[in-house]
Amino acid sequence: MSGRVRGWCPDAWHPMAAGDGLLLRLRPPLAHLTPDQLRTIADVAGLYGNGQIDLTSRAALQLRGLRERDGADARDRLVAAGLVDADPRREARVVLVAPAWRPGDDTHRLAIGLRDSLDALPALPGKVGIAIDAGDAAVLHDTSADFRIERGESGGLILRADGRPRGTPLSPGAELDALVALARWFSASGGAAAGRMARHRAPLPDWAAGREAPARATLAVVQGAHPLGTMIGTAFGRVDADRLLRLPGLRGVRLTPWRALLLVGVAPDDARALFHDPALLRVDACVGAPACPQASVATRALAARLAPHVAGRLHVSGCAKGCARAAPADVVLTGRDGRFDLAHHARAGAPPHRTALSADDLPALFEGPFRAP
Ligand code: SF4
Repeated sequence: MSGRVRGWCPDAWHPMAAGDGLLLRLRPPLAHLTPDQLRTIADVAGLYGNGQIDLTSRAALQLRGLRERDGADARDRLVAAGLVDADPRREARVVLVAPAWRPGDDTHRLAIGLRDSLDALPALPGKVGIAIDAGDAAVLHDTSADFRIERGESGGLILRADGRPRGTPLSPGAELDALVALARWFSASGGAAAGRMARHRAPLPDWAAGREAPARATLAVVQGAHPLGTMIGTAFGRVDADRLLRLPGLRGVRLTPWRALLLVGVAPDDARALFHDPALLRVDACVGAPACPQASVATRALAARLAPHVAGRLHVSGCAKGCARAAPADVVLTGRDGRFDLAHHARAGAPPHRTALSADDLPALFEGPFRAP
């Protein structure tokens, strides 16, 4: 099946028609790829698509440029490799996993358990996501998700509804039952009309009206050494599978929602050639025109040109939908009718401070330390 439906997310069973062909998105289990699985994804991208692999802001991978008739073959190869669930309803569930899990820890245990509990979840809007963020401190706090199992300030795990500052302490072993119960409450209380938990204003049931704040969050994105190997950033999320597969010691690749990859088993010195200019890692830019039919502007070349001149986070979006970044950025350029609207500390499509700027005007506007024009 293909087609464009607002508020609906493409996946491997439901690729979306884009300007450059079908767009297929996959969420590998546990956000982990073995080297063989990465090879399979690269092969599928090259055989059926435009060869490119992109990492999204919700830690999914996207393949683009597939022909309509090849969508099923591509999906079947991904299913056979254990990268896509054989059940389309299960594959449609959006589950985010804190990437630095280790076998047997709380994140790993709960993520495995959730796979067995997916069928118990009610029908949910396509963008609704579950974050399993059960390390010593939350790392997915800035990542779009609706129901969160995360570390509370007391050191135990809590279940927190997105948009609420506090969560409910969880008893060991009962975490997933509580998660399913909260999802069922969301569904039964009309959450589908709101679309997302943060917009759903119904009072939480007493048992879920949390009293414990999350533990202090940590900044997880560091380009360099990591206890499991090496973290590398990716420019605009582009994944170079061939270079990754040549790295000595590579035992796996963990997908993160920060446009970064955790290379398990790889020493920093061996990955140093893949490190990026930090300025480029502060930029989010969707694919833009001509690949996306909703874009009236090209995005990435402009973003790369502006990056060194913008203090803080820069988001260049082809349209107000803001696919590349859901959270606010320090500087946001939103394409509209072939030009850009400029806003500060905002999301794509926010009320602009300046309107109808041309791509040629913008570099001069940002020269030197940024001052809000
Ligand atoms: S933000 Fe708009 S232009 Fe960019 S990929 Fe999404 S829909 Fe397309």
